[in-house]
Amino acid sequence: MNQQSCTVLVVGAGPGGYTAAIRSGQLGLKTIVVENAKAGGTCLNIGCIPSKALIHAADLYSKVLESASEKTKFGIHSENPRIELAETIRWKDQIVHRLSSGIEGLLEKAGVQRVQGWARFIDGKTVVVETPDSGPPMEIRAEYIILATGSRPVELRDLPFGGKVISSTEALSLTSLPEKLVVVGGGYIGLELGSAYQKFGSKVTIVEATDQILPNFDAELVRPISRRLKQLGVTVLTGAMAIGMADDSKGVMIKTADNSISELPADQVVVTVGRAPVVDGWGLEELDLDRNGSAVSVDSGCRTSMSGVFAVGDLTGEPMLAHRAMAQGSLVAEIIAGKRRRWDKVAIPAVVYSDPEIVTVGLSPDQARQEGFEVIEGRFPYSASGRALTMSDTDGFIRVVARADNHLVLGIQGVGADISELSSAFTLALEMAARLEDIGETIHAHPTRSEALQEASLHALGMAIHI
Ligand code: FAD
Ligand code: NAD
Repeated sequence: MNQQSCTVLVVGAGPGGYTAAIRSGQLGLKTIVVENAKAGGTCLNIGCIPSKALIHAADLYSKVLESASEKTKFGIHSENPRIELAETIRWKDQIVHRLSSGIEGLLEKAGVQRVQGWARFIDGKTVVVETPDSGPPMEIRAEYIILATGSRPVELRDLPFGGKVISSTEALSLTSLPEKLVVVGGGYIGLELGSAYQKFGSKVTIVEATDQILPNFDAELVRPISRRLKQLGVTVLTGAMAIGMADDSKGVMIKTADNSISELPADQVVVTVGRAPVVDGWGLEELDLDRNGSAVSVDSGCRTSMSGVFAVGDLTGEPMLAHRAMAQGSLVAEIIAGKRRRWDKVAIPAVVYSDPEIVTVGLSPDQARQEGFEVIEGRFPYSASGRALTMSDTDGFIRVVARADNHLVLGIQGVGADISELSSAFTLALEMAARLEDIGETIHAHPTRSEALQEASLHALGMAIHI
């Protein structure tokens, strides 16, 4: 058996693992990263990046159709636009390939050794890697271990993957458009991919078990999304569960809140009911780590219950977001390199790339009250924004939540076109402990959609100018 040793062994090269490995390498630690699939993990290969590419293409296509239709107000005329999904998928694959190769280059530049294959622990310091070329397995011993095995789609017992029933992974690589697409689960992925496929031309139905799509976001933020889905022609069934395929596999059986059962015709069914940490097949049982549900428990330094073993990213549970995984990855590398670090982030932004987009950072008004704060709120609607009007997209608003006594900003949320790009401004405000006055007195460039942040802060102070 081929034997190797290193200071830091990272298992999984997704955003958590590759960031940990690059930072460890930069800090001069002898680092090996083992990856079974492609560098970049779920996010880059079958998650964030490919989904955003398809969402962009679908948006562009629907805008072309809209401006070519008689309803156009812009005076733009284009003849017979059409979508060739296979070409769109090829374009998306090129982006993914470029970014994945980029990560490999960055690992190399940081002096990190990459090992391709599946890692399995035989004890808390040693893994055996089965390499895909069926060469001899490799045994790697390490002083420190960083677990970054990520997550996989949850499968419904009554609607297992196979045949017409697919996960987000396959939904990101369809080469022909399903005429009727049923999306089971109206969360992040269901909304993002469901809207994209409707814009491409499928007839989409979203089936959501709770009484609201995006149940983790407050109703006020979700309202503009529901309006837009209706306008696009997406059917949304809330309080509804998919209970299996019809006997002839031509549709999905749905049970609604009043216990009635009906069949939804479907050419394809995408199940997007959450993701679960990957905890099997790599020897977790050899490590005997404390767990929180299925996730691996970590402390504020991402240490597990076993000395020298760290865990980052989706493996450690919610929120399963790439930027959280990356932040944990750097943190752990720096701790191993001897720096005094701990997880002390004020907020982790959450963005839904729906139409329009949602951003939430920090506490909502209700959450702030539940935590015992007396709060004041400010709001600014995009219907009053000059820039939003010039972009012909005025649905949505920005909301700022602050302590009533000292005006410390506790949370910023918003919904609107391209609002994802404001997530860093929102998060920076919270990390820098901004007061309403700090944002209100900062000059925001005109005309931009970001002025809504300044106006919402001024509104909370009773000083808004444009409403
Ligand atoms: P992963 O990215 O899952 O990487 C884990 C890696 O470990 C995998 O490559 C796997 O092959 C490898 N691995 C596992 N076990 C072993 C083993 N034993 N040996 C060798 N290799 C192993 N998040 C956002 O923040 N923004 C978004 O817009 C967004 N969009 C998404 C869209 C979709 C469709 C999906 C599915 C997810 C999306 N996410 C998004 C979530 C994001 O992809 C994850 O939070 C992120 O990838 C987690 O990173 P990670 O490093 O923990 O794990
Ligand atoms: P999710 O948790 O966002 O949504 C799952 C939805 O399915 C929920 O609304 C839930 O009520 C519903 N559901 C559960 N069981 C059901 C059933 N039997 N029938 C009908 N509905 C059911 O999960 P997801 O959309 O699969 O995404 C997984 C994770 O990936 C997210 O939680 C997020 O962490 C990450 N992600 C993030 C982004 C982003 O940051 N923009 C995008 C995609 C995915």
